[in-house]
Amino acid sequence: MRSDYCGGLRSADIDREVTLCGWVDRRRDHGGVIFIDLRDRDGIAQVVFDPDAAEHFELADRVRSEYVLKVTGRVRARAPEAVNPNMATGEIEVYGTALEILNTAETVPFQLDEHTDVGEDVRLKFRYLDLRRREMQHNLRFRSRLTTAIRNYLDGEAFLDIETPILTRATPEGARDYLVPSRTHEGKFFALPQSPQLFKQLLMVSGFDRYYQIAKCFRDEDLRADRQPEFTQIDIETAFLGEDAIMAITEGMVRSLFSELKGVELGEFPRMSYYEAMLRFGSDKPDLRIPLEMVEIKDLMAEVEFKVFSGPANDPKGRVAALKVPGGNDKLTRKQIDDYGKFVGIYGAKGLAYIKVNDKDDLEGGLQSPITKFLPIETRAAILERMQAESGDLIFFGADKAKVVSEALGALRCKLGEDLDLYTAEWAPLWVVDFPMFEEEDDGSLTSLHHPFTAPSCSPEELEKNPLEALSRAYDMVLNGTELGGGSIRIHNQDMQQAVFRTLGIDEREQREKFGFLLDALKYGAPPHGGLAFGLDRLVMLMTDSDSIRDVIAFPKTQSASCVMTDAPGTVDSRQLRELNIRLRQKKEEQVS
Ligand code: ASP
Repeated sequence: MRSDYCGGLRSADIDREVTLCGWVDRRRDHGGVIFIDLRDRDGIAQVVFDPDAAEHFELADRVRSEYVLKVTGRVRARAPEAVNPNMATGEIEVYGTALEILNTAETVPFQLDEHTDVGEDVRLKFRYLDLRRREMQHNLRFRSRLTTAIRNYLDGEAFLDIETPILTRATPEGARDYLVPSRTHEGKFFALPQSPQLFKQLLMVSGFDRYYQIAKCFRDEDLRADRQPEFTQIDIETAFLGEDAIMAITEGMVRSLFSELKGVELGEFPRMSYYEAMLRFGSDKPDLRIPLEMVEIKDLMAEVEFKVFSGPANDPKGRVAALKVPGGNDKLTRKQIDDYGKFVGIYGAKGLAYIKVNDKDDLEGGLQSPITKFLPIETRAAILERMQAESGDLIFFGADKAKVVSEALGALRCKLGEDLDLYTAEWAPLWVVDFPMFEEEDDGSLTSLHHPFTAPSCSPEELEKNPLEALSRAYDMVLNGTELGGGSIRIHNQDMQQAVFRTLGIDEREQREKFGFLLDALKYGAPPHGGLAFGLDRLVMLMTDSDSIRDVIAFPKTQSASCVMTDAPGTVDSRQLRELNIRLRQKKEEQVS
């Protein structure tokens, strides 16, 4: 139908006759001449109709925004004063000689420009229109280029792209499963995969050696801002490679993606242990662009009378830490400090103590703070020394259970980085390693920090004796405070796998019932193997500098895990339910009426 894309025309095309197809971005009538900005996926070209081509001019007069047109015309140079340097096609225009209206359009429910201020629910309801916007076109095209580059890289490293099932059994990754009832097996359900984890491990048992898949994963979680119930992973597994080799290949992939698609050279990624990351940054995905660090002061607070500090300081599960904002006295108002107090409340902190160091040499009058009166002079001196505080600095404190302090001050650190624009680099990647195998829940039970197939770096005996001390052979790739990907060396022998299951409280019967196929496979020559998975959506979000993960997914779900365009999830008729042997429980109101 067309000879060229609108957005591709340049001065070199002058005098060529072209046929374009696209949507009317804008139509203007300038003293008897009609200008149409015609838009397609490559951009916009200006088309001009004048009354000399009478029949087409009349038609051009009738077109409205978002009509679909086919235009034929000759490319010509714009008059010098009409050249638009902000437009890729700004030096030329197309003098229209023929026009066909391929389809009309009603007035669209919102402006399709970059500055659309309509609510996201409206954008999602009319997603097919929202996707016509330049930003969304750019994001999805970037995503396509990215997945192509990923495939090329992995293909070059001898990886095989192998699909794994969507209808399957539960794969534990820490979320709830989406279930699909089986019609042919009454009362039984498939689960949608939370990840292809077990299948990719089985592919290693089968000898494929290097696998990847750009895989859809499904997790029924309470949604947070940057989560989607269905999302995409770059899923990778290898055999006969240790963690260093796996990290080198995947780091190489991310480096080459940034270089190829953004012209950014990331350099070698540093490594940091989980313990150090928590200690210094209060997070297992530290944002290293921000130069602030948490400092442990538990030892300084053990003896003070101030219970708020001495309590956690004497609790083995407690933590007392401080965060210094250099020059913070002038940068932060009282109101901001109060707001930060509320902010850390989100993470369970009961308050946010602080000291404004007005004069570091005057420990009586030079420290402005609601808490100094509770602290002996020597303690004040010790804090300033530990923090290497200078006059003008502001120090925040956290004292509570270790988890609360780390999360609260860790989040405050990121918020300060953002609010005060403290960033020292544009990109700060790293690997976090040496994670604990397990976390203790409030009820004393243990859960895997990664997943139960992750290998520990100790023997099964040591693991079962001291599970909370055990470290795993897991690694996470972190970029700018976001977890880009994570993985591990896996367990490849049955005894170790069963030791982990036992530690997690999964008894022999449940092991057989849920993971019998895996335990069997481990008996038949499973090679040492390991891999990882990257969150593709998040990677695209970071690389396109998008605010939301929904802006890099063509048809995302809302925060409440629904699709407002198709109105999914929807009800089904009773015949379908009967076929599936499912009867819905009546809602309370219905029972009453
Ligand atoms: N299956 C893991 C996940 O989805 C990644 C991995 O261990 O390869 O997080």
